[in-house]
Amino acid sequence: MIKRRKTKTVKVTCTRVGAGASGAVEIGWRAPIVIQSMTKVPTTEVAHCVRQINQLVKAGCRLVRIAVPRRADTAAFAKIVQKVNVPLIADVHFSPSRAIEAIEAGAAKIRLNPSNIRNRRDVHRIIDAAKMHKTAIRIGVNEASIRDLKKQPVAMGKRTALMLREMKKYVRLFENRDFSRLVLSAKSSDTLRTIEINRSIARTFEYPIHLGLTHAGLPEDAQTPSAIALGTLLAEGIGDTIRVSAAGNPLLETKIAKQILIALGLYERSEPEVIVCPTCARAEIDVVKLARRVKKAVAGIDRPLRIAVMGCIVNGPGEAADADLAVCAATNKAYIYRNGRRISIVPEDKIIPALLKELQKL
Ligand code: SF4
Repeated sequence: MIKRRKTKTVKVTCTRVGAGASGAVEIGWRAPIVIQSMTKVPTTEVAHCVRQINQLVKAGCRLVRIAVPRRADTAAFAKIVQKVNVPLIADVHFSPSRAIEAIEAGAAKIRLNPSNIRNRRDVHRIIDAAKMHKTAIRIGVNEASIRDLKKQPVAMGKRTALMLREMKKYVRLFENRDFSRLVLSAKSSDTLRTIEINRSIARTFEYPIHLGLTHAGLPEDAQTPSAIALGTLLAEGIGDTIRVSAAGNPLLETKIAKQILIALGLYERSEPEVIVCPTCARAEIDVVKLARRVKKAVAGIDRPLRIAVMGCIVNGPGEAADADLAVCAATNKAYIYRNGRRISIVPEDKIIPALLKELQKL
């Protein structure tokens, strides 16, 4: 059981007219860890954006972030807010005006980068608007944006200190203006540096932490660094909301994020899990092909069942003993087990129907 680090709780509320309590998400140690992702279509394509948001919500995202680089984007953001039932975050860089427009457009939360909105008076204006609209703010320090880190190679300890200094300075601006609806994040593209800086942030502040790596790569390359960085921190109890950054379809980001949380027992699965033996020379069947067929057949079932697909009966039954259902292949047939007990033998072409029949019973 992972012991979460104690934090303040930040409530992020969907501002759609009539969204009510169903649209509110809490971020903090008492609440489940929140998966978030970003839309990756032009914000001004409102219908397209809404479609992608709804797909992300269906996949498990409870917060969705949208970039608003231009005035036209905050105008589109105001329309999008009214069409979805999930709190939206406006991602703001460089422009205090965009931040205020997004808050007034109904952003539940905005993300600011301290390195590119630095003017104290601008920050105060944003804080005042956020207070008025009860908008949460994420202070997102990015290693790549810190000026002192661009000048020369800097050792890891010094990098962490510089990022922490940047965060402390910015947080003080908010606290001095009596604003505490804050979430903090410190991102790097480097796995170890991400772990290091987030440990420091966790030791220094009580605010919830958003975890992620920046520009982690294509989905197949982003998976491992994200799993290591986010997994290590989450296992230490650090992190209250996460985003896996991967180039391409944001649904893949959500899928990886969910897998990380499931692996740590931090996410309640609602669909079947298919576990598959790694296969070896003992396999009596094309295990991968069968596993894919099983996965396809059980897609859409909304029960957290564990189904094992094993290539032989030498080790298969023992290794699949804790599965709700297991298929262990033999030559031209398969043995079906329920909770470790053999219940039937079926010919190879009847494996899927037999499995589905047993699933019905469960
Ligand atoms: S279950 Fe059988 S086929 Fe699969 S890895 Fe184990 S021994 Fe090999």
